[in-house]
Amino acid sequence: MYNPKSLDAEEFICNDEVLSTLKYAEENKHNRELIDEILNKARLEKGLTHREAAVLLDCDLEDKNKEIIALAEKIKKDYYGNRIVLFAPLYLSNYCVNGCVYCPYHAKNKHIPRRKLTQEEIKNEVIALQDMGHKRLAIEAGEDPVNNPIEYILESIRTIYSIKHKNGAIRRVNVNIAATTVENYKKLHEAGIGTYILFQETYNKESYEKLHPTGPKHNYKYHTEAMDRAMQGGIDDVGLGVLYGLESYRYEFTALLMHAEHLEAVYGVGPHTISLPRIKKADDINPDEFDNGIDDDTFAKIAACIRIAVPYTGMIISTRETEKCRERLLHLGISQISGGSKTSVGGYFQPMPEKEDSAQFDVSDRRSLDEVIKWLMELGYLPSFCTACYGSGRTGDRFMDICKHQQIHNFCHPNAIMTLKEYLEDYASPETREIGEKLIAKEVETLQNPEIKSIVEKDLVKISGGERNFKF
Ligand code: SAM
Repeated sequence: MYNPKSLDAEEFICNDEVLSTLKYAEENKHNRELIDEILNKARLEKGLTHREAAVLLDCDLEDKNKEIIALAEKIKKDYYGNRIVLFAPLYLSNYCVNGCVYCPYHAKNKHIPRRKLTQEEIKNEVIALQDMGHKRLAIEAGEDPVNNPIEYILESIRTIYSIKHKNGAIRRVNVNIAATTVENYKKLHEAGIGTYILFQETYNKESYEKLHPTGPKHNYKYHTEAMDRAMQGGIDDVGLGVLYGLESYRYEFTALLMHAEHLEAVYGVGPHTISLPRIKKADDINPDEFDNGIDDDTFAKIAACIRIAVPYTGMIISTRETEKCRERLLHLGISQISGGSKTSVGGYFQPMPEKEDSAQFDVSDRRSLDEVIKWLMELGYLPSFCTACYGSGRTGDRFMDICKHQQIHNFCHPNAIMTLKEYLEDYASPETREIGEKLIAKEVETLQNPEIKSIVEKDLVKISGGERNFKF
């Protein structure tokens, strides 16, 4: 039976509830009256239930779809302004004992070079990332209790935080590793991680079991309840996502929102982020062999409907997607993107020749971080390297509380300006720097609070003088 408060995966992601929601959405996809009612509720910018959002996703009335897109754009602006947070993935190890059929790291893949970074190699990767200007990483590893035990992950996190090279520093390490125990989540929390990210891949139990035929990840219940254990272990920022292409996008969309509702119902705080990955070509993986691929229009509609359903949840798009697709989704709700990414183990310090490469999947956006920053600014966005909320304990429900009251601008906007200034001083090309300085001058003028404005102006001068890490 469906129960968002239950701790049992099959009750909070109840298959019957997903199916009956999909039926309801299908039946109402051109019910103008209901769609207007849902849109009016959505205009309050406090979110929607999974049922309401599923109707909007299915809606096939052209004029209403235009309203949906326009509303997503408005909510994006109201909650996040023009800021976009930057991060990079750091692959620690591709050893994996699982059999995920869409991932080239699956255990049966005997020809992919397996690699696990030593602490010295991690240091080199982190210095290379710092030299690009990154302050925020997402560490990635396959699941392998022998090669990548939790102790290895913890040691790697300590190494990453300890490296201070020139003006560089990694100030937030998010972690994307396999589902684990409350005990291990406690250890990750104590190691000072930012968000714990775990993609559900698919919420459909039957498909999940087929797509994960072997290894510990086969256990649907253990995987789906991972965020509960993470919360119980003290991690209050968790990141959800499904891998689009594996199952019907309508099923995934509905279940993902049910997962968010479950976290909110039990822990009083929904997911910190939702990622939107689509399956990509990789070593021995051909995305065309999966039946549920979605086109760019559907992908954009999903992004818009997620933005409307959970306005206060950050949304992430990676370099899996092209520049064009990323641009489209940025307008509709994305608040964080990766830039200059390498999806192979050791790819930043010493990129491998293609045939020896261990990349997890092909990236579509291969531009450097500097090019991505310049592009964002030319599109009118304010790139941000801010990690202040995390550093100031504004996580979990404290963060969400500020965010839900749309107060996040008071912190984020000045912090974005100052971290962009640091980036321009330390890492930008002359052209990017020129565009950035003009943007900063313009953005400072938009700061409403005279006190904050005056502090920012003074701090910008100090940053030019070589001082770093100012924040609200
Ligand atoms: N191994 C960890 C786990 O089991 O959750 C997570 C790390 S994995 C490096 C990160 C994510 O990459 C996976 O959760 C999956 O969604 C995604 N991924 C795997 N194969 C992919 C592919 N061929 N194309 C796009 N994304 C893929």
